[in-house]
Amino acid sequence: MSGASERGPPARVPIHRLEPQTVARIAAGEVVERPASVVKELIENAYDAGATEVRVSLSGGGTERIAVSDDGVGIPPGELALAVERHATSKLAADGALDAITSLGFRGEALASIAAVSRLSIVSRTAGDDSAHGIRVEGGEPDGEFVEGAPPGTTVEVRDLFYNTPARRKFLRSPPSEQVEILGIAGALYLARPTVALVVDSQGHELLRYPRSESLRDAVVWVLGAELVDQTIELEAPSEEGISIRAVLGRPAISRGTSHGLYLAVNGRLVVSRTLSQAVRSAYDDYLPRTRYPVGIVHLDIDPSRVDVNVHPTKREVRIAREREVADRLRRAVRSALVRAPQTAERGGAPMAFPRPPLPSVEAPPAGPQEPEPMPVSLAFAPAGSGRGQQRLTDREVSRTVDGSAGHPRITLHASLFRLYWIGESEDALVIVDQHAASERVVYEALLRDGRLAHQELVEPVTIGLTARQAAVLESRRTEIESAGFAVAPFGGGAFRVSSVPVYRGHLARADVLPSLLDELADGGRPTVPNGLVERTAASIACHAAVRAGDAITAEEMGRILEALYRLSEAAYACPHGRPILVRLPRGRLDRWFLRSGE
Ligand code: ADP
Ligand code: MG
Repeated sequence: MSGASERGPPARVPIHRLEPQTVARIAAGEVVERPASVVKELIENAYDAGATEVRVSLSGGGTERIAVSDDGVGIPPGELALAVERHATSKLAADGALDAITSLGFRGEALASIAAVSRLSIVSRTAGDDSAHGIRVEGGEPDGEFVEGAPPGTTVEVRDLFYNTPARRKFLRSPPSEQVEILGIAGALYLARPTVALVVDSQGHELLRYPRSESLRDAVVWVLGAELVDQTIELEAPSEEGISIRAVLGRPAISRGTSHGLYLAVNGRLVVSRTLSQAVRSAYDDYLPRTRYPVGIVHLDIDPSRVDVNVHPTKREVRIAREREVADRLRRAVRSALVRAPQTAERGGAPMAFPRPPLPSVEAPPAGPQEPEPMPVSLAFAPAGSGRGQQRLTDREVSRTVDGSAGHPRITLHASLFRLYWIGESEDALVIVDQHAASERVVYEALLRDGRLAHQELVEPVTIGLTARQAAVLESRRTEIESAGFAVAPFGGGAFRVSSVPVYRGHLARADVLPSLLDELADGGRPTVPNGLVERTAASIACHAAVRAGDAITAEEMGRILEALYRLSEAAYACPHGRPILVRLPRGRLDRWFLRSGE
């Protein structure tokens, strides 16, 4: 055996104690994952300091510089050095009792962790001092103190995050993407505490300004978008067994493909809780298809002694004593608010933007509890073009034949039901096509194949409003949005002009789908599409560019979509997120219904 093996054991150093600096950097990773986590810790410190207004200034999406200023109580000069020391805090009593914490912080770790992996400075002035005192720390090492003029309050500035931990710095995303995260966390924190004003700017350009507000509803509209105006349900359940609930949620017509639009705050702390989110979701059960989630904010006020906040490094999760009870109470409160709310899903005449819950298979499904065997259907055929009823034929041309190819049957389309299902016949079956699912699949394949969609300039550009986060996503995903065919330009004060939209097989996408497309991209794209980012993005774009449920399209357009679908593989009988496109009801089955089976 020769010792010259090229793949010998790695060089080994004897076991030794790590330098405190190194330990600090490793531990910092728990709290400081990325710029958005720094922003979160600093805003929470400002909240704990009783600030009424917090300003966040960014450069390079927070990767170069984050400065958070507040008008809170400040830090006395003699305590500045302690503030950046690990496990030093003003928020716990000397005995360290952890059983009824009302502040957001309590571990005394955030500033120390951030200081260990950045160039940090704190400038602070208490009400009793006439000037502000500052300290600088570089990579955890004290780097000088100074005095300067500043108003009462505190500014913490963090430069060059992860400059001394290259491995971590490498994992930062592009500045625009990091900025999307920061705006997301800023909006969430504001929803948890709308009584504190929050402003975020980037190199002098204001990205968002949320005012001080006592109204949770206004906060929801600010953060989640103007589409929620007149589209919220509100509930306020008075204190019962030490729990009170306040919530503003979107009506079912405003929903998302992920649970990310639903925020929870327990005693003013933003938390993640599957149990509680699930409770809200289940209150919406029969109001939303399985793939959709409600949006909004829930504030729970619970006796602090019932809440253990000390279970997660970033305190995102809390443990609530008898959580099931709380969840159940929440579900019932949301449910009754939802049932009591007037059922006005119509807004500006726009139809509900999502189809009914999906049918489970390509063959006609067995009759479920809510879906009786379709025996008593009466088909009321109105003359083409008449009335605004849902069962009208959408086009004078009532029939369009799509030739069979590659194993696909020849289908003659006859009618459209509910502006969603196309009814046709093949040689031996009644065929029902979901117009949205069909169109979506075709657009999806085209996007994956060509990387772009055709577009059409709008004669009249459409003005839409975007939230700060949506605008940031537009910036960070501009290439994809443009290759999808949307041309969008800022128009001042949160307004944007859409001058071109995707066009596919005769169908023009609607400009006003952009906000929800941007939300979806910010949340990582269609979650039900298991593949990579490209597929999820394509599926999101396809869903929003496609013919929708409720769109009146011509038999001609539908025929073209089916032909395109036929040119795809066999597998293309499900939409990108796996719902069926086409259901066959074999003639034999019809015959049995009409007792013709013996003939
Ligand atoms: P924690 O918030 O858990 O106490 P931090 O490391 O975030 O730990 O902060 C350490 C201490 O510094 C706080 O306990 C508080 O006394 C002080 N501090 C931090 N930020 C501010 C601020 N914006 N205003 C006033 N005091 C602050
Ligand atoms: Mg803190």
